[in-house]
Amino acid sequence: MLSPFLGVYGPPPVTLVSGQGCRVTDDRGRTYLDFTAGIAVTALGHGAPEVENAVRSALDSGLIHTSNLYRTLPAERLARALIEHSFPGGVFFCNSGGEANEAALKFARRYAGTVHGPGRSGFLAFRGSFHGRLFGTVAATDRPAYREPFLPVMPGVRFADFDLDAVGAVLDEGETAAVILEPVQGEGGVRPVDPAFLQGLRARCDATGTLLILDEVQCGLGRTGRLFAHQHAGVTPDILTLAKPLAGGLPMGAVIATPAVDATLKAGDHGTTFGGGPLVSTVALAVLERVADPAFLAEVARKGQRLADGLDRLVDGHAAVRGRRGLGLMQGLALSEGSLAAPVVQRAREAGLLVVSAGPDVVRLLPPLVVDDADIDEAVGILDTVLSSGGDPS
Ligand SMILES: *Cc1c(COP(=O)(O)O)cnc(C)c1O
Repeated sequence: MLSPFLGVYGPPPVTLVSGQGCRVTDDRGRTYLDFTAGIAVTALGHGAPEVENAVRSALDSGLIHTSNLYRTLPAERLARALIEHSFPGGVFFCNSGGEANEAALKFARRYAGTVHGPGRSGFLAFRGSFHGRLFGTVAATDRPAYREPFLPVMPGVRFADFDLDAVGAVLDEGETAAVILEPVQGEGGVRPVDPAFLQGLRARCDATGTLLILDEVQCGLGRTGRLFAHQHAGVTPDILTLAKPLAGGLPMGAVIATPAVDATLKAGDHGTTFGGGPLVSTVALAVLERVADPAFLAEVARKGQRLADGLDRLVDGHAAVRGRRGLGLMQGLALSEGSLAAPVVQRAREAGLLVVSAGPDVVRLLPPLVVDDADIDEAVGILDTVLSSGGDPS
C-alpha cells in the first residue's frame, strides 16, 4: 500500500496501538519494553495518571487554546514554576525543541545587537551538535547532510571542538552573539560535556559578553538525575531551552532567559499562535511538579547508575561494544569500529526492546524516568542476548 506520508522518514517497522507505563503494544498484539519514550518525551511513561488527570482538569475549563493575546492562569503558573526551579528571568513558550532554539537564537541576536551594537550576530556551536531542523537551528546543527540540500541556511555559525583553546580561536568578540550547546549531546551520540569545560565556557562567555545558550531539549527536566543537566556543572546559562518531556507527550517547548536578555526584547519581536496554551501548560505543570521532586530525581540517578552498570557489563562482555557514555537515564552504547547501530536496534525490537540509534554507531537508551529495576535488568538482558546472537552486527 502506498504510504500517505511524505517521504522524510524511513519506513516505520511496527504500528503501535496502545501503551501502559514502560510498555507499548503493536497491532499484532506484541508488547515491547519501550526504552525510547518517544525520543525522551514520555518521561512519566505511557498512560501516566498525572498526565491524564491534568488533561481532564484542563478540559473542565473548556479552554484548550486562547492565543497569546490573552493571559491564562495555567501558562502563568507554569512560567513561575519554571523560573523558581531554574534561575530568575522570563519564559517564552512554543511548541517544539526546534522552535525553542530558534527563539533562543533570535533573542540572543536581539540582546547582542542592543547591548554591543550591530555586527555581533554570529553563533558558536559544537562538533556533534543537534539543535533542530529549522533554517536557524539546522545551521547550528553539525550534520552537513541535514543542511546541504536546503542551502542557504542561516549564515554566521562556526563550529568548535570541546576544547577551550579551540573556542578561544573561533569565539570572536566582534562577531559572536552567543554560544549554543547541549550539556549532554543526544543525537550526536550521547556525549556528556565535561563539567570543567562548561565552567570554562561560562567564564569565557562572561569575559567576552557572549551569551551562553544551553539546549536541554533532550537532557533537561530530570533525565540526567538533576532537574537540569547544567546543574551537574554548577553553571547557569543566559538562555535555557526545553521541550521534549515538558508536557508529558503533548507538543511544547520553552525558553527561559535572564532579565538582562529580557530587557532587550520588545513586544512584537517574536511570537507564536499556539505556544503556552492552557491545556499543554496544565499538563506541563503536572509533569514539572513530578520530575522536580528531589526524591524522584534521586531515583532517576540511582536507576541511571543501575542501567550504566548493566551496560558496562555489556562493554566488557562483547567485542562489538566499544564503550558506554551517558548521564542518568540517558545512556548510549558505542559500538566498535565497523559495527552499525541500526541492525542492533532492529534485533532488539524483534526481541521485544525498543531503543534508538544516535548517529551511525551508537545505540541510545532513553527509558521513561519511571522505569523500574526489573525493566532495566530486562532491557540489559535483551541487549546481551542480541549482541551475543548477532556476531558482527554490521
Ligand atoms: C530533539 C531535539 C531538538 C529538536 O526538537 P524538535 O521538537 O524535534 O524540534 C533540539 N535540540 C535537541 C538537543 C534535541 O534533542
